This record gives sequence, C-alpha cells and structure tokens, in this order.
Amino acid sequence: MSVLKAMPRFLCDEMLGRLCHYLRAAGYDALLARDGTSDAELLQQCHAEGRYFLTQDMLVREHKAARDVALILPPADLNHLAALLNEYYHLDWLGHAFTRCLVDNTRLVVADDTALAHAPADVLRSGEQLYHCPTCRRIYWRGSHYKRIYAKLVAWQAARKNPSTDSLNEV
Ligand SMILES: [Zn+2]
Repeated sequence: MSVLKAMPRFLCDEMLGRLCHYLRAAGYDALLARDGTSDAELLQQCHAEGRYFLTQDMLVREHKAARDVALILPPADLNHLAALLNEYYHLDWLGHAFTRCLVDNTRLVVADDTALAHAPADVLRSGEQLYHCPTCRRIYWRGSHYKRIYAKLVAWQAARKNPSTDSLNEV
C-alpha cells in the first residue's frame, strides 16, 4: 500500500473529462472540476489536497498558486495527452488499473452479496471476481467497455518506453 501513497493525485478541469476518466481507470485519484468553479478555488483545492491541476486554460499561469501544481496541456487528442502525462508524472497505467470507480473516483471493493444481487446473471455465471463501488453501488466486471479501456492503458504503458520529444507547456 505504500506505493499507493506515492501515486500522484489530480484535479482535472472540466474540459478534461475523458482524461480524468482514464486516470481513474488506471487507478489514480482524479477529480473533475465542477462547472463554474474558479481557477483560484481549484488551485486552492490542489494545494490543500496535494493534487496536480491539469488544465487547458492558459490563463491559469497568471495565478501565483499555479506554480508547482498546474500543468497546462495543449489542445490534443487523448493519446497525446496521455504521453504528456507520462513524461511529467511517469504514470503506471497498468499497475493499479481498475481499482477506482470511473464515475465518482471511489476505491472499488470486492462485491459483497448485496452488490452481487444486482449483477447481471450472465456475469455471475462467468465466475469472474466482481468489484463494486461503495459510493454509487455500480458493479464492475470485464465487459466490452473494460476491454476498450484496457487496450488504451496497455498502449500508453508501452509508449512510456519511447518518450516523445514534444515540447511541453508547463507553468
Ligand atoms: Zn461509484
């Protein structure tokens, strides 16, 4: 569990919802900013909670509080954004994959009997170990959605060994 403590935590601006989703899929503690929250408030939250602020808002650099916590990402597709995060935070996309709820960021637990009562019958029949979110009660299993996400995480993990030389836009 000591490894988990060392994992970077993130707060993503509302433009980076998909990236946030994939960070959660990789097991990182990643929050999504609520619409209408000011940059100043988000930066304050990052300092208070020890999070990095991932944003595409260039104006963030005008805040003193952005120093050390904000990373301004360029408009880019998801694969490119993942490559940039690899360079900055050396993320492990697979080591803790699928340990968090994709919807609300809560750590998943092994599904108990109450949760299993709501699982689809064919999933139960597969005998697969199921997990559920204590917050929203969603049940997680390795369906087609899982496979699509997993394929991306595998690709990003492989790309870590070939870091690109793109220039970055750090505060
Ligand atoms: Zn949940």
